Amino acid sequence: MKKKIMSTILAAAMTGALLMGCSGSTGASGSAAGEAAAGEEAAAAENAESAGDSTEASEGDAAGGVSEAVADGELTVGTNAEFPPFEFVGDDGEPDGFDVALIKAIGEKMGVTVTIENMEFDSLVASIGSKVDVSIAGMTVTDERKQSVDFSDPYYDAVQYVLVPSDSAIASADDLVGKTIGTQLGTTGDFIAEEIENATDQQYNKAVDAVNDLVNGRLDLVIIDKNPALVFQEKFADKLKALDGADFGFEPEQYAIAMPKGDTALADAINGALKEIKDDGTFDKLVNQYIEQ
Ligand code: GLN
Repeated sequence: MKKKIMSTILAAAMTGALLMGCSGSTGASGSAAGEAAAGEEAAAAENAESAGDSTEASEGDAAGGVSEAVADGELTVGTNAEFPPFEFVGDDGEPDGFDVALIKAIGEKMGVTVTIENMEFDSLVASIGSKVDVSIAGMTVTDERKQSVDFSDPYYDAVQYVLVPSDSAIASADDLVGKTIGTQLGTTGDFIAEEIENATDQQYNKAVDAVNDLVNGRLDLVIIDKNPALVFQEKFADKLKALDGADFGFEPEQYAIAMPKGDTALADAINGALKEIKDDGTFDKLVNQYIEQ
């Protein structure tokens, strides 16, 4: 992460925006011209990118394949340590979990120091390229997020689960209609709950707060990813049961590392390290250590 460079780029972009604003201030036709110009620029950038893929080195590769984001030897990583077993706050007060161990192993392969920034899940995507270089947070690849960030190769399959009180009769999609549902803000569980007919989507910053409200009878169910659901079910074994989202028609999901858009050097470095970690058995070791106990 190089904050100075980022702010310079940001300042340049803002100046550009101001200039465009001025040239487009002659009325509707002016701004349409501005839009057309922006479109051309985007097309040109795309062409340059595909040319870089095939024949010549792209901008990011020019300095020997080192992304500017890690040129200072540091990879700053955003996470939300509220999502066991992928990320949680360990006994020493530091973020720990499968994702944290995985990104540290990736950093080691890349030869960079990994610094973890614990923040709210809902602000992770917007922080990439400014507060943090990348994010790892059990984050599902979605088309909407892809408009703001690029994703690494996926590293884990997931699905949303339904957590209900042990004595609940909820068993199928129809049973979710009109219910009060707890979710973590900005997650795929939140997006699913928003679509359920007549249901109330009660959003929380921390999944554990939703689970506590479920245990206390304030919610009918919580929609959350499979592995955290299983961790919470175990924690409240006599009070909660976890139901497979496939029985509710929830689609399969995949986790990947979210990265700045267009930083192909960084993407190549992360994907290369991820592949090495899978090939040399480190990945399976971490799965055994953190997920399948
Ligand atoms: N996989 C879900 C998502 O990407 C939840 C992630 C999380 O809460 N950390 O939205």
